[in-house]
Amino acid sequence: MNSRFLGAHNRESLDSRFVCLLIDDILAIDAGDLTSSLSLEAQQQLKAILLTHQHYDHIRDVPAIAINLFFRGGTINIYSSQTVYDTISAHLLNGKVYPKFLELPETNPTVKFTVIEPHRPEQIEDYSVLAVPVHHNDNAFGYQITSPDGKTVFYTGDTGTNLTDCWAYILPQLLIAEVTVPDRYQGFAQETGHLTPSLLKQELVSFRELKGYLPLVVLVHMDPALEEEIKAEIEMVAEFLNAPITLAYKGMQLHL
Ligand SMILES: [Zn+2]
Ligand SMILES: [Zn+2]
Repeated sequence: MNSRFLGAHNRESLDSRFVCLLIDDILAIDAGDLTSSLSLEAQQQLKAILLTHQHYDHIRDVPAIAINLFFRGGTINIYSSQTVYDTISAHLLNGKVYPKFLELPETNPTVKFTVIEPHRPEQIEDYSVLAVPVHHNDNAFGYQITSPDGKTVFYTGDTGTNLTDCWAYILPQLLIAEVTVPDRYQGFAQETGHLTPSLLKQELVSFRELKGYLPLVVLVHMDPALEEEIKAEIEMVAEFLNAPITLAYKGMQLHL
């Protein structure tokens, strides 16, 4: 299983892109930077998009890819909570901001939406996908993706602390987690449902206590202006845990 990071940050600029992951070229998780990262042909190869929650940095390219596929006669399957579906249908693909691609073209709508239930494995193409609630906003999910040959990735999406009830459901070889700000912004992180390096450390300690191992850990959703500070603090966390932790960047790829 190949995981490619199309975007790895929480804010966009010339040097940073919103979070967006691509599994084996066909399965996207979050849609922060799908269209500017992929050729029209590569966009048409996509089979499904999983959305973790409805914040703009995670759904931004849904309308952009929908219109590209519409003009090429393609379709895309999108999976998310009911909350994300309601947001996109009411506020983005609503006939005002952008066409109603959930209904157009009438014979075969471009966007086919499936509301996914947490803790209930869903077969998507050849993958088993498990949505697991995390603590960020209403109905935010992390996703565990298991390939046919048994390789497993878990992506937390945006999340605050208290992930023990989430860890109970997953068994990944690769954990893609968020760390948004350095430790000195812990108050902000706790108010907005995000992790700092120290908060991540607590969650990884609880993971290892519960599961008896630590997966490979890769981080996304860093604030680009604070990344050097985050990186220095993460190096100390990795040393404490005696485990490698890597900050992702646009274009990074990992093979399991
Ligand atoms: Zn968010
Ligand atoms: Zn976000």
